[in-house]
Amino acid sequence: MSVDQVVGRFAPSPTGPLHFGSLIAAVGSYCLARRKGGKWLLRMEDLDPPRVVPGAADEILSALESLGLFWDGEVVWQSQRTEAYIEAVERLRKKGLVFDCVCSRKEILLSAPHPGEDGPIYPGTCRTGLRPGRKPRALRIEVSKEQICFCDGVFGHLQQVLSEAVGDFVLRRADGLFAYQLAVVVDDEAEGVNQVVRGADLLSSTPRQIFLHACLGNPVPEYVHLPLVMGSNGKKISKRHGIVRLDYENNAARLIAQALNFLGQAIPGCLQGAPPAEILSWAIQNFDQNRIPVAPEGIILKDFPI
Ligand code: GLU
Repeated sequence: MSVDQVVGRFAPSPTGPLHFGSLIAAVGSYCLARRKGGKWLLRMEDLDPPRVVPGAADEILSALESLGLFWDGEVVWQSQRTEAYIEAVERLRKKGLVFDCVCSRKEILLSAPHPGEDGPIYPGTCRTGLRPGRKPRALRIEVSKEQICFCDGVFGHLQQVLSEAVGDFVLRRADGLFAYQLAVVVDDEAEGVNQVVRGADLLSSTPRQIFLHACLGNPVPEYVHLPLVMGSNGKKISKRHGIVRLDYENNAARLIAQALNFLGQAIPGCLQGAPPAEILSWAIQNFDQNRIPVAPEGIILKDFPI
């Protein structure tokens, strides 16, 4: 039996410099792909122009280089992938799975009293056709009532019924931009990604992505979600909120060691003061997925300048 080569990836959004939370995703996805001699790809998720911060993509790329996290092949830019997203939507349309929706946010809120995983649960208003005189806004996919089950590499068995948790979700937004859920699935498939390692904030998006893979007839990748880094205020740290720029050029080894430590990997004392490449080479050989802490609430980082 031939075993497929692991193809992992890191897919940052260039909304700011690489913060400690994204560093965890970078180091975790790198080690889990390389550990099995796999490829590690890099995709810049610059799908949403208003959120893209000029210079952030370059800053992320040079931070990864300073850390010695070298990716395979060319960087893929989502802003250049529009054709592929259009084609995927057409395939879904031919299968009768997508529909135009005229509802405004306010209308959905009014008709959907229960909050879902990601805002109000769409009540299916436009499934059966557009109301006369109204212009289509977003494009949605009709979800099923089936339970979507998967086994996450850290968080174990999880399931979700999309019709109850999110409802028919958006593939193309009212502003014409393709939604993250669609883009990530189309790109992971096109790049042959079979291992998705990322922050646990995306756990609740995973059933939507598994559903889309199934609708498009794609194989479903393996998923590994990493615990989130929380600030001392108990909130997830993010690029958009008060970050301290990390000095990747001068502190690469220390930052990699801290990321590995956060992921439960006990680095031997003899690697104290070793260059980044040496720490990474130890990590590739010794990274143990079973040691990643299962922390649904995230882990508060007290002694770190985040
Ligand atoms: N672009 C997303 C982020 O920076 C990650 C998407 C993914 O890994 O699927 O949070």
